[in-house]
Amino acid sequence: MSDAAIEAADRPATDRPTDIAEDVFERLKVVLPRAGGPYPLHAPEIDGNAWDYVKDCLDTGWVSSVGAWVDRFEEMICEITGARHAIATINGTAALHAALLTVGVKPGDEVLVPSFTFVATANAVSYCGATPHFVDCEIEGLGIDPAALDAHLAWIGEVRGDTLVNRQTGAVIRAIIPVHCYGHPADMAALCEIADRHHLTVIEDSAESLGSRIDETHTGRFGRIGAFSFNGNKTITTGGGGAVITDDDLLARRLKHLTTTARTNDGADLVHDMVGYNYRLPNINAALGCAQLETLDQKLTAKRQLSDHYRDAFADAKGVRYLLSPSWGECNNWLCGLLFDARDTRDAAQRLLSNAGYECRPFWAPLHGMPMYASAPRASLVVTEHLSACGLTLPSGAGVKAEIKR
Ligand SMILES: *Cc1c(COP(=O)(O)O)cnc(C)c1O
Repeated sequence: MSDAAIEAADRPATDRPTDIAEDVFERLKVVLPRAGGPYPLHAPEIDGNAWDYVKDCLDTGWVSSVGAWVDRFEEMICEITGARHAIATINGTAALHAALLTVGVKPGDEVLVPSFTFVATANAVSYCGATPHFVDCEIEGLGIDPAALDAHLAWIGEVRGDTLVNRQTGAVIRAIIPVHCYGHPADMAALCEIADRHHLTVIEDSAESLGSRIDETHTGRFGRIGAFSFNGNKTITTGGGGAVITDDDLLARRLKHLTTTARTNDGADLVHDMVGYNYRLPNINAALGCAQLETLDQKLTAKRQLSDHYRDAFADAKGVRYLLSPSWGECNNWLCGLLFDARDTRDAAQRLLSNAGYECRPFWAPLHGMPMYASAPRASLVVTEHLSACGLTLPSGAGVKAEIKR
């Protein structure tokens, strides 16, 4: 530990919110010492061959929905994740939507989703005419809590033949979407076991978890389909973009078909055999994505180092703890987070840090509190409420590395 870290650790913190917030500020300054910052929450890191690859698109005119960079990008996603198939999409929300349609989520169905997630998880369910059914999270990995899920399904669910029915609403509960929140892997072994027992199809929302693994297996490979996002604030970016991965040949063909306007031929005449979607990632975005994936390892290393510094700086802090990877998996450190004991302390810290140029954001507001989902079916959501009241994300981009005081 540096002298400043020892000094910060020695400072007595009382239980008053402003004192705890001051203490958090002092500890943060040990890691990110540049007065006034600004330290963004997560800025894109444009580096490597990005300019060359994008220029190639501009020079050749292959800027749109067909091109060699899209194929290359998909190959690279397969290499990194180990999946058999990857299909690039215009964004992560479209990837989730296509995944749900492809596994047969129908109007009137329910799909189990955490309430603690980005709104796109539930919106993709709504796009299918289905209803999100909210379940609670656990504190260690921030994912769906297996024990709470099992208890909830025992209470409201009934397996009839090979489907799970919600006894309270009469709807079929078709699928479950575990989310790897802020890059922390959800407890997939336990969740997949429960899903199997209840005939639920697992779609993973891996939008935030590129580089996160459980043992040697990349997140997104535990369910039938995994969905990624490459939006500007994610670990790597294509500007806007996403991808689905699967090991299933048939699902892969259907996903490609559905996301490329359901075209049936490569010839000059345009023939389509169903209502498809124009969800294909443009070549110019894929070119940027290829350059970004080439430096993924450096980005992950930089983020890990930043996270290790945060871990050390907050190790003995009072009234707050730094969120580490869960025991069952390895986090990509997409967004580093603090969990306070109380909301007023979190709010005081957020005000203090934001005013000092450290961009930090409260954890997601629960989806079940938003007007469009206020009457959606749900389990008890006490942990979700606690996380969103007391969590704070810290500056986490790979570019923050250069600022660490040695
Ligand atoms: C970013 C994100 C998405 C959606 O991705 P977009 O590319 O922004 O459409 C979905 N789910 C989660 C959890 C996300 O963080």
